[in-house]
Amino acid sequence: MFDWLIVGAGFAGSVLAERLATIRGERVLVVDRRPHIAGNAYDRHNDAGLLIHQYGPHIFHTNSEMIFEHLSQFTEWRPYEHRVLAEVDGKRVPMPINLDTVNQLYGLSLTSEELEGFFAERAEKVAEIRTSEDVVVSAIGRDLYEKFFQGYTRKQWGLDPSELDKSVTSRVPTRTNRDDRYFTDSFQYMPLHGYTRMFEKMLSHPNIKVMLQTDYREIRDLIPHKRLIFTGPIDEFYGHRFGKLPYRSLRFEHETLDMPRYQSVGTVNYPQTHAFTRISEYKHMTGQVHPKTSITREYPTAEGDPYYPVPRAENQALYKRYEALALAEQDTWFVGRLASYRYYNMDQVVGQALATFRKIDETVPRQGAAPVKAMAAAAI
Ligand code: FAD
Ligand code: UDP
Repeated sequence: MFDWLIVGAGFAGSVLAERLATIRGERVLVVDRRPHIAGNAYDRHNDAGLLIHQYGPHIFHTNSEMIFEHLSQFTEWRPYEHRVLAEVDGKRVPMPINLDTVNQLYGLSLTSEELEGFFAERAEKVAEIRTSEDVVVSAIGRDLYEKFFQGYTRKQWGLDPSELDKSVTSRVPTRTNRDDRYFTDSFQYMPLHGYTRMFEKMLSHPNIKVMLQTDYREIRDLIPHKRLIFTGPIDEFYGHRFGKLPYRSLRFEHETLDMPRYQSVGTVNYPQTHAFTRISEYKHMTGQVHPKTSITREYPTAEGDPYYPVPRAENQALYKRYEALALAEQDTWFVGRLASYRYYNMDQVVGQALATFRKIDETVPRQGAAPVKAMAAAAI
């Protein structure tokens, strides 16, 4: 009898499996319908021996020392600060938009103070900032919005920014200095040997069993378990009884090129041209030295594996109906990006999983675990 059945071997499922097994000494079965662990963070060495991210570029960044320290139990790190260029009007300029972006794009030599005035002159007055269009036009005006955000967002989401919640484009700031890092978090690192190795370490506990290529519906009635943690799409769990929640998908086109370097930064965004949104080159992130290089193009699609919840009011309202069912469950917990229908980064999922663990530990009696004091004594 397993104490827990955990559906999904991504960040949400794996972080919880490790905590339940290590701290509470409980028996955990993790199932995933994919043939591998690590969820969307899965990386692997391809035929050429290059470490690539199967589901597009995953860059770890967080402001939480607690989350960083937690994951540090399972990996060493490589410092990495992600940089992105956007190809706009035939030029490659820094994204997020900063002082150099504006000067290079318009052939100007503004100072930071002058750039503030430049933005202020162009910014549109918006009574209430609600949408992803409002956020950008109210800060930097329509021209930069159309060049950098509108086309990219339409491609990525199949929706105009005016149809998406403000939280989407708010992820990308605008700067008046020359900082060209994509993220400014205090911890910016890649797992030294990759994400999959980190997950292997997290899951290699005698109390944890992992079953791959298994949909939980195939085994839920066959394998006895006391409680369930579900990290897949919440609407699927409930048989789409209120209708389907939209999730945006991507098709990844991986290519290995016979050259040591393809582009000058980790990612180049294409807001105006091409059907793909961006091209990422992994060697920047992994630091791997190799005569060849691997890149991935991301083509957004409506159909396919669910990758992104689509943040807009009507979807949130539908999610709330499913959430009400979830909250009424006795022994089932919903965690992660798909089960919470939230546009979470990896660190946020780790934070949510650790918070869920604390809640479980406060409210669910431990199953057959050695008392905490005895375990601590044994460790000494
Ligand atoms: P997932 O990783 O999706 O894991 C859920 C697992 O559940 C899946 O493996 C799935 O197969 C399994 N599952 C679902 N239903 C069932 C079922 N019925 N039976 C069995 N198994 C099931 N975050 C960052 O912090 N930095 C980045 O740079 C970054 N880049 C990203 C780029 C892309 C293209 C995408 C799509 C996401 C990116 N993210 C990034 C977000 C990151 O991928 C997620 O925050 C994180 O992986 C979510 O973890 P999770 O465990 O919630 O979900
Ligand atoms: N975005 C954009 N142009 C860009 C980069 C981002 O319009 O060059 C918008 C787009 O809507 C995107 C969102 O900002 O989906 C969030 O960007 P982020 O890079 O965080 O997306 P992710 O890495 O999660 O796909």
